[in-house]
Formats: sequence, structure tokens, C-alpha cells
Amino acid sequence: MKRSEHSSNSRREFLKKLTAAAGGAALTPGLACSAYSRVSGDQIFEAPMAIASGFNGEPAVNKAVEVMQNGGDVLDGIIQGVNIQEADPDDMTVGYGGVPNEKGVVQLDAAVMDGRTHQAGSVGALENIMHPSKVARLVMERTDHSLLVGEGALRFARMHGFKEENLLTDRARERWLEWKETLSDDDNYFPPSDDNNSSSSLWKEFESHHGTIHSSGLDTNGGICATTTTSGLFYKMPGRVGDSPITGAGLFADTNVGAAGSTGRGEANLQNLSSFLIVERMRLGDSPEEACLKACERIAENTNISRLLDDDGTPNFNVRFYALNRDGAVGGAELRSSGGSMKVADPSGVHEVELAYLLE
Ligand code: ASP
Repeated sequence: MKRSEHSSNSRREFLKKLTAAAGGAALTPGLACSAYSRVSGDQIFEAPMAIASGFNGEPAVNKAVEVMQNGGDVLDGIIQGVNIQEADPDDMTVGYGGVPNEKGVVQLDAAVMDGRTHQAGSVGALENIMHPSKVARLVMERTDHSLLVGEGALRFARMHGFKEENLLTDRARERWLEWKETLSDDDNYFPPSDDNNSSSSLWKEFESHHGTIHSSGLDTNGGICATTTTSGLFYKMPGRVGDSPITGAGLFADTNVGAAGSTGRGEANLQNLSSFLIVERMRLGDSPEEACLKACERIAENTNISRLLDDDGTPNFNVRFYALNRDGAVGGAELRSSGGSMKVADPSGVHEVELAYLLE
């Protein structure tokens, strides 16, 4: 049997299983939670509070709550929070030190959304500016536009006095070089003959991490804002923009409902508008975790081309979602189980919440 036939048979089985677990109900809307491999359960926190992606979000949520507790605005809080990762050379998925595109150039994407005013600002494929989330905020506050990309975004950042700097650290450059030298036996690049010179051991400890930081916050007046910032897919095509700066895909916030954001394969979120879907599901009464699981399910249902499917017919990539609602309930989910979590800070400190998942 050809791989694609195998995938489509297994996929039929997979979709049948999901439907059966839902008691025969149509997959969407209203799939019962019993269809999911793990449901962790939402937890309630006290405002001011902030959530972020689990692998890199602790400093961000801490900072966001500190800013709000000192009387600062929720949007200031979450942006100052993610600025820590943007400036951290050891976070190779965000800002300074991010893994570059296929040409060895770091291109950053970021967005902010103010759920109180329903305004959003974003930048895509921005080069040489360490804090794209700050530029995204200025797009929202100082222009009539929502998204600036490439040269135009850089010009706008310069106009506002942002300093241009080299964002490519030696560590990220070495990783990119290793990728380029091992890409093909049919080109003019090859890796060093002495394996001890390779950076791969360093890389392995990092490889399991997904990129990007998302953070959302809720203040004591019920104000909700969100931000997502990233260096994007490793070795992406120059000019490739992911889900992070696209409102509705990599983040969404509405003070009347809640906020959601994502890390992982951005194309899946661009094609399914997952963060918008999560907020709309919460508007209809889903808890944050249920809503995040619905987004996983939607992606699984809609992923039907063989290059994106494993032999069992399920998606061969991962996406993680993080959400909060206006009552301070927090929950998240990932498409495939990988031990993902989210960080939550409130006045009692920082907490870790496990993500539910759809697929083992
Ligand atoms: N979502 C990001 C993008 O597609 C990457 C990631 O989170 O790993 O650009």
C-alpha cells in the first residue's frame, strides 16, 4: 500500500474513533470532552494575573503581575513580560538570539491586542530590532493600520527611535551553519570532519522546545490584553510570516470573554484561525481548556493532506494553546501530547498548569 493510501485509511479510523468517543455526535461543534486523550481541568486564579507558554513564560508572567500590582496597565505588564524573552540570547525562539531564516537572517514577528478597545497592532519579518512587541504596540497606537512588514516595519521602528542591532548570536549562527552544512550531500557545504566540533549536543537539549512566547493578562478591572512574539520557524523562507502577528491566528483578546494565544506550527493556526475560534468558543460557554481542545480538534479534522499526516492518519506536527477567561479561569491544550504546560502568575505566585491534549 502506498503511504498516502495507508494514511487515508488510518485517518478514516481516526476520525471514526473521535466521533465514537463523542457518542456519535458530529465532530464540531459540541464534541464531548471524553473524546480527548487528556483533560486537565481549568483552574481559577485571582486578578491581576497573567498566563504564558510553559517552557519560557515564567519571567514574563512574574513581570506582568508585578507591573499590574504596582498600578501599571495590563498591556504594559504583558509587554514588559515578553520583553525579557525578546532580550534573552538563550531563548532561541524569540527576539535576540532567535534562530535565523534560511539565509542566516533573524526575522521577527509580533503582535499585541487590547481586548478593551478591540485594537491590534503587529509587525512581520522585522529585522534588527530586539523588541518587536514594542513596535507592534506603536503600530496599534500610532498608526491607522494593524500590520506592518519587512522594510516598512523597520522604517517605522527607526522613525520611533528604535536602535538597530545585530540579533544573530554566535550560538544561533552556529546552529544555522550546522543545518546548512548537513542539508544535502549535493551542494558545496559540508560539516567539519571532527564531530567534536559540532554544536549538536548543545542543540539536542534545546530541540524539544517549541518556539515563541505568548502571554495574556487580566487586571482587577476586568481588562484583558494579549501579545505573541517570535523569531518564527527555524530556517524559514525569507519573508515567511507565521501566525504570531496575525490576530485571530496566534492571539486574540476580547475583554467581554477572554484571551487565547498559541505556539507551534503557525500555518495550522493561519489556516484555522485558532485563537479567534477559542475566544468564540468561550463566548458560547466553553471553559478555556474545552475551547483550546476544540481548536486542536478543528486542526486535526482539517488536516487531510498526506505530507502533514503520520501513518495513523493524525497530524504529524504540534500546536499548543493557552487561554484565560474574564473570571480568571485558565486552561490550555496541545494537539499532540508532549508534556506541555503553561505558566500562570497571580498575587499568590507563579503556578504551572498542565495542558490537556487531543492525541497521544
Ligand atoms: N508559531 C510560530 C510560527 O509559526 C513558531 C512556534 O511557535 O514554534 O512562527
